[in-house]
Amino acid sequence: MSLLPTLIKACYFLAALLFILGLKRMSSPRTARGGIVWAGVGMLLAVLATFFLPDMHNRSLIVAAVLIGVSAAWWTGRRVAMTAMPQMVALYNGMGGGAAAAIGAVELIGYARALGLLHVVPDTSPLQPESWAINGLPPLLSPVELSLGVLGALIGTVSFSGSLVAFAKLQGWMDKRFVFPGQRVVNILLLAAAVVVGVVLASGHVSGPMIALFFVLALLFGLLMTLPIGGADMPVVISLYNAFTGLAVSFEGFVLGNEAMIIAGMVVGAAGTLLTQLMAKAMNRSIGNVLFGSFGAAAGGDAQTIDGAQKPVDAGDAAVMMAYAERVVIVPGYGLAVAQAQHKVWEFAQLLIKRGVKVKFAIHPVAGRMPGHMNVLLAEAGVPYDLIADMDEINPEFPATDVALVIGANDVVNPLAKTDPASPIYGMPILDVSAAKHVIVIKRGKGTGFAGIENALFYADNTRMLYGDGQAAAGQLVNELKSLDD
Ligand code: NDP
Repeated sequence: MSLLPTLIKACYFLAALLFILGLKRMSSPRTARGGIVWAGVGMLLAVLATFFLPDMHNRSLIVAAVLIGVSAAWWTGRRVAMTAMPQMVALYNGMGGGAAAAIGAVELIGYARALGLLHVVPDTSPLQPESWAINGLPPLLSPVELSLGVLGALIGTVSFSGSLVAFAKLQGWMDKRFVFPGQRVVNILLLAAAVVVGVVLASGHVSGPMIALFFVLALLFGLLMTLPIGGADMPVVISLYNAFTGLAVSFEGFVLGNEAMIIAGMVVGAAGTLLTQLMAKAMNRSIGNVLFGSFGAAAGGDAQTIDGAQKPVDAGDAAVMMAYAERVVIVPGYGLAVAQAQHKVWEFAQLLIKRGVKVKFAIHPVAGRMPGHMNVLLAEAGVPYDLIADMDEINPEFPATDVALVIGANDVVNPLAKTDPASPIYGMPILDVSAAKHVIVIKRGKGTGFAGIENALFYADNTRMLYGDGQAAAGQLVNELKSLDD
């Protein structure tokens, strides 16, 4: 008996171990980079092993597809700006969902052909797998395989069209929100129709028009489900589609009998689900609301008016306030990423630390444009991990903080999230910077954040605005601090 199948299974097992260990290493910024390499090696191993499967055909076509995919990913991966990473994740995730859906489609078409329901000439071309019986037809799927194939195709298709909409929105190609009356009802009806057609297919009544109808309904549902989403909930949706793609790949892995796909899909599905829950919690949205709500929308009612005016401060005064403070907490946000100010900010923090000031960095779970965005930037600048605190850890410390330095953050420090039920971000947990004795905010002008709303923090009595580009302003603070030492 050939050793090959056993060797392939052993490779899949090793790949699964590498996926899981790699994921475990990604849970800490110290080991995350290594974790990505481990998981990548696992994937390479799984792909290489797959080439040796006895049933494998069309190897040259697969190599060509792999080469195209790898080159495109390598090229875009190296060029993409950190600020554009969420749309890239959305795009790649959509490709994964689409690939799973394509497997489902091929299996369904194969099933219909095997039943003789699709009247096509049996394929006897050299591209045809030899295992497709003598007459050029595939073996029939079992009822369980058929059901899982349909389910995977449904979830994968929704993830595909939904992720593409998410990509277009984040890329600025599409209006942020698209709402029409009765949208929720239409969405539910579309999903119900797709599920009904899916059940018909899964019960073995597979025909060409049914397959086409099924995919059209699923594509439309993914599209319409994502169109009304805007504002602060977009990251939850991307993460949710990521979980969907994992599930879809896993189900299609059952259909193909491929353990590597099953495990990789499950790992992605579980990780995506946990991340979705974590982010939904960080934004105070339920998953049900994410699925069927028109979210990022205001709850209704009159928005709170904000009294007072923004009070500017110059870099000299701001530097003095922090130089003589006991505790300073630096709160980075999306503007830090835009300005690429992380190096200058860390240089400034080091000067403060040298003067004996206790400095910490506070990171909100959805600061920036993707989870971990700020952690990556601060790590790149060399900020030690023990100076970085997350929201739950730092919030009780703000009342004992002399100066909170907010740089390019807006929505994640907006007190209206706590005080204004009519605000689109009402209920989203925020960093309580307004509780600090003094607040200095660095931003270019009066621009709003991602949610497009005013921020009460900027008008508070204890807040001073240091207007300017994040990097330039941090540079000024560095110079002012140095001149104090001279
Ligand atoms: P925001 O997007 O709310 O605010 C960023 C602020 O940075 C703006 O007010 C802008 O003001 C300022 N800014 C822009 N460019 C510069 C610059 N060059 N120098 C200095 N300031 C600049 O950022 P937050 O991080 O506070 O909040 C993140 C938001 O993004 C949340 O609403 C979150 O829900 C959403 N989101 C998060 C994702 C995630 O996973 N992290 C993914 C997708 C969305 P000005 O123009 O005046 O300079």
